[in-house]
Amino acid sequence: MANVLVVGEIKDGALKKISKEVTSTGKKIASQLGGQVEVLLIGEGADKFASELSAVGADKVITVNLADFNPEAYANIIAGVAKEKGSSFIILPHTGQGKDYSPRVAVKLGAGIVADVVELKVDGGNVIARKPIYSGKAFANIQINTGVKVFTIRPNSQEVGSTAGAGAIEASSQTAGDVKTKIASTELSGGNKVQLTEASIIVSGGRGLKGPENFPMLQELCDTIGAALGASRAAVDAGWISHSHQVGQTGKTVSPNCYIACGISGSIQHMAGMGSSKYIVAINKDGDAPIFKVATFGVVADLFEVVPAVTKEFKKVLG
Ligand SMILES: Cc1cc2nc3c(=O)[nH]c(=O)nc-3n(C[C@H](O)[C@H](O)[C@H](O)COP(=O)(O)OP(=O)(O)OC[C@H]3O[C@@H](n4cnc5c(N)ncnc54)[C@H](O)[C@@H]3O)c2cc1C
Repeated sequence: MANVLVVGEIKDGALKKISKEVTSTGKKIASQLGGQVEVLLIGEGADKFASELSAVGADKVITVNLADFNPEAYANIIAGVAKEKGSSFIILPHTGQGKDYSPRVAVKLGAGIVADVVELKVDGGNVIARKPIYSGKAFANIQINTGVKVFTIRPNSQEVGSTAGAGAIEASSQTAGDVKTKIASTELSGGNKVQLTEASIIVSGGRGLKGPENFPMLQELCDTIGAALGASRAAVDAGWISHSHQVGQTGKTVSPNCYIACGISGSIQHMAGMGSSKYIVAINKDGDAPIFKVATFGVVADLFEVVPAVTKEFKKVLG
């Protein structure tokens, strides 16, 4: 029997969606290994999310009350809980914070790590992790040979299940421990109202937007449907929008439920950052644009006609 330890995240007093995704995946893996899934939540008032997590699989929710994020403190706490529980499979979110603390956790536990995983499968008594490589042109299936194994999961790559867990709550006595740095302050760059890497819908603009004056048109669509605003490198390099919006090989990797590409040709480097989106909608006036090869729905038309019309319709429907 092998228990799986999963780590969830809280942001601005709310449970992040990735927390449910990793919990459901942990539940699936734990039941195939004949064990349970324990979910560690670090943050103030973490216990109030226990029922949300048990509804999607948590057999136990372990809470640690800690006001501020610090990657060293998180790594100390996660490694401490893993040792205490004897966890050999540890599943962490591949979020901004997760990328910061997960390598530290692996080092503290002497564990092998596979980062940015999109699928976990049980094979015999082991777990095989599938991750995109070469900018999404291929996949690698990787097995970790160390006793303790750490996986980080790409946000929006996992289904949230409906198999409930026992949902016990345990307050852990683990503490931040020896921490050598303090985050003095953090600030959002680029002014995106919805975080790109967390968004379930993204509307992105490319060179087809023709200039910075046309990005507010995309922002209006974003505001209407609760999407985050993305961009291609061509738009960023032209100075039309800040780099914090860039999606792709040298920008952010996103995996929303729906990615709406407006005036983006679909270069390999752009698709490296958004190719794993669940639904891709492409609006491009060139029917031969490569983006249509990956698009779920394609609109061969002028974006300056389509985008305002779509925004108007959404406003009617959504109010
Ligand atoms: C090392 C390296 C890293 C890179 N990293 C990234 C990265 O992270 N992200 C990234 O995006 N790129 C990246 N690039 C650049 C990439 O190769 C492309 O140059 C870039 O993605 C092109 O952006 P685009 O699709 O907006 O522009 P284009 O390729 O010029 O496409 C513009 C599209 O808009 C369409 N269009 C024009 N007018 C309209 C209209 N009125 N209505 C509808 N459609 C219209 C055109 O048909 C065309 O398909 C990288 C390149 C390199 C070499």
